[in-house]
Amino acid sequence: MKIIELKDISFQYQSGSENFSLDDINLPVKKGDYTSLMGPNGSGKSTLLKLISGVVQPNLGVVNLLGKNITHYSRKEIARKIAFVPQSTGNAYPFSVFEIVMMGRSPYLNLWGNEKKEDIEIVRESLNQVGIYHLREKGINEISGGEAQRAYIARAIAQKTEMILLDEPNSHLDIEHQIAIFKLLKEFNESAGTTIITISHDLNLAASFCKKGIILNQGALVKEGMIGEVLTEENIKMYFNVNSKIERHKSSFTISILAS
Ligand code: ADP
Ligand code: MG
Repeated sequence: MKIIELKDISFQYQSGSENFSLDDINLPVKKGDYTSLMGPNGSGKSTLLKLISGVVQPNLGVVNLLGKNITHYSRKEIARKIAFVPQSTGNAYPFSVFEIVMMGRSPYLNLWGNEKKEDIEIVRESLNQVGIYHLREKGINEISGGEAQRAYIARAIAQKTEMILLDEPNSHLDIEHQIAIFKLLKEFNESAGTTIITISHDLNLAASFCKKGIILNQGALVKEGMIGEVLTEENIKMYFNVNSKIERHKSSFTISILAS
């Protein structure tokens, strides 16, 4: 069952970058996939996530969500299916951590926005799952970038969607928390069948935790498939312009990026 299908997508921003367009993108995303979206800066990764979540509309082609054109869903309906963890900007309105995570419940609240006991329970549980329950009363600007990033991940978890999209969720995290987040996402993926697409520059984390991989290059989807087939020494050289050494183990592999 496909949760998302991009069909013959072309996209260009109205203003700004005349040189950039996403072209001829065809991408099926199966329910339960855990995918790493990779590619150099400016290759179109964030734009692709915006297309998948209906934030921007393609110039050509269609995005189907669960077999139906995404433009036929309301924003609230999409928010019950897809949660989005943005690339952190570091400059947010000073909501408390608890309030930020409660926003994940807004697609389910009634007209008056009254939160029920169940919503509060879900928010508590989500805060616990990312390990920041103790920070719930703090303002989002009063905690570290990594902690804020975990608050946005908790918000996505509280949203209880079939799919979570993450834009470089580990850019502010220390190594321990980077691994913890990828592990947590894997647990969700395996226990709840949550479909996950995460943009990441860390090829080793992708190799260790993700099932599938996508490489974008200059607006083109150049590789897509099982992570082990996508991350090869040849592809890493071709699209990331670095030499690497891949060591394959029984059911996993590690990548050493060579400094020269
Ligand atoms: P990536 O996430 O892979 O770094 P992006 O999808 O953010 O790449 O950006 C791809 C290209 O689109 C870049 O050249 C960027 O400058 C441009 N771009 C991104 N957002 C906008 C926007 N809102 N308006 C105009 N151009 C944009
Ligand atoms: Mg980006």
